[in-house]
Amino acid sequence: MLITGEMLIGRKAVRGEEQALHAFNPATGSDIAEPVFGGGGVAQVKEACELAQQAFDTYRNLPLTVRAEFLDRIADGITALGDALIERAQQESGLPKARLEGERGRTTGQLKLFAQVVRAGQWLSATLDSPLPERKPLPRSDLRLQKIAVGPVAVFGASNFPLAFSVAGGDTASALAAGCPVVVKAHGAHLGTSEMVGRVIQRVAQEMDLPEGVFSLVVGAGNAIGEALVAHPAIKAVGFTGSRAGGLALMRVAAARAEPIPVYAEMSSINPVFLLSNALNQRGESMARGFVDSLVLGAGQFCTNPGLAIAVDSDALKSFVATASEALSAKPAQTMLTAGICAAYQKGESTLSSTKGVEEVARGVEASGPTQARAALFVTDAKTFLATPALEDEVFGPVSTIVRCKDEQEMLAVAEHVEGQLTATLQMDSADLATAKKLVPTLERKAGRILVNGYPTGVEVSHAMVHGGPFPATSDSRATSVGTTAIDRFLRPVCYQDFPADLLPEALADSNPLDLWRRRDGEITRS
Ligand code: NAP
Repeated sequence: MLITGEMLIGRKAVRGEEQALHAFNPATGSDIAEPVFGGGGVAQVKEACELAQQAFDTYRNLPLTVRAEFLDRIADGITALGDALIERAQQESGLPKARLEGERGRTTGQLKLFAQVVRAGQWLSATLDSPLPERKPLPRSDLRLQKIAVGPVAVFGASNFPLAFSVAGGDTASALAAGCPVVVKAHGAHLGTSEMVGRVIQRVAQEMDLPEGVFSLVVGAGNAIGEALVAHPAIKAVGFTGSRAGGLALMRVAAARAEPIPVYAEMSSINPVFLLSNALNQRGESMARGFVDSLVLGAGQFCTNPGLAIAVDSDALKSFVATASEALSAKPAQTMLTAGICAAYQKGESTLSSTKGVEEVARGVEASGPTQARAALFVTDAKTFLATPALEDEVFGPVSTIVRCKDEQEMLAVAEHVEGQLTATLQMDSADLATAKKLVPTLERKAGRILVNGYPTGVEVSHAMVHGGPFPATSDSRATSVGTTAIDRFLRPVCYQDFPADLLPEALADSNPLDLWRRRDGEITRS
């Protein structure tokens, strides 16, 4: 497929004229010469948003089977791009082929899972309360509820998942599934990959004769284009994955609008791993190796990267640190996604190494390429950690700090102290149950997902997954950005009171023509 460097506004390909942009190859440290991408501006954002608004009522009212088919066909179109997509994503991200092939499978699987969700219709939450005309002192009306799409959604593709969290990634899939047109702001770290995937969505929408504005892809560097997108009155919600500063900036824009809108921003998390004493004694060595493998996976560029480990001081902890240090020292440096992310990693890692009370215990193999990250491991004590807020900052990359606590009480204090997280992990044996029971109530308040005897990297796309958590992990702890309940972010309930049968939405008709599971007078029934 040809990459032209154009934006995709509805059915058109439009060359932006605000600035010339090049894709970048982080492995070579140089720009990819062809094509030159034309960065757009406020005019293209306006056009895309207006088209999305025009498309909204038609798109959300299409038969569910058509909406599901749209998602299925996008997935098939991405698969049909074959090696060309993987090669381009590899060039632009520096990520290995196998990782990108896995990510493509996750992306298409996610789209197909949302197609199933759309067809099943549970997301509608169809609810019927029968009228009670004889009720005293007042009769009750006929009340029926269903959820509808909120409106056009702005999606900011993530740098670290050029497929699964970008143009046709989780935010787009869940918004399209909900019935929302989508305007994507392409991430500058994978412009060509974005265009290839965007062209698939554009082509499928056209082949299915869907309303023109159901999907657009805008491209541009600098804050103006993203701010204009969030500020446009047609946009009713935002999905974002990236830095804390970026997420907060877009939340401010959204809150300052005449009509404020929700921003679902996934921002920063250091994913504490609690190493409980009996588990450390029994299998500290294998835990240390598993921990390091998780830490360096994908050059540490995962939002679920384990950036913090906490344990009560003991000989077993010393052995854990020794084994982890040995394992980490052998880990090769890896290419990071962008020069900016690499520079931010080096800055964060050098802040850690120059913090008083923090000791560097291991470094990975020295970098040999232009944007490579060398892994690092630090140790500190709980007193220093609790007194140094900077030690909680997310350093995006293969670095972690082990916090030594003097006793269980201090470990609980660290758990209580940490900010909101996407995940928290317990490495434990049955003999650690009493400590685990003390930690869990705190961890429930702190994290969106609590794991036992696993490592947080690797997020399943399923019905029960939660990829969210209290601030600053996300801007709204009530939502998830991975898993099928991600659709709820882009829905809102509407109640229909005393509607005549001919005016009711299909999902709420007495005869249940969509064959949905519905809540009727409090009972879940298929009638
Ligand atoms: P980013 O700088 O937050 O950028 C993400 C997207 O938001 C880009 O499209 C960017 O546009 C846009 N953006 C950022 N700030 C904006 C603003 N003030 N106004 C309008 N648009 C704005 O994130 P990144 O480039 O992916 O990575 C940078 C850092 O983010 C990493 O070093 C890491 O710390 C963090 N990160 C975290 C996660 C996570 O999952 N928690 C994932 C990826 C990255 P432009 O690029 O055009 O500015």
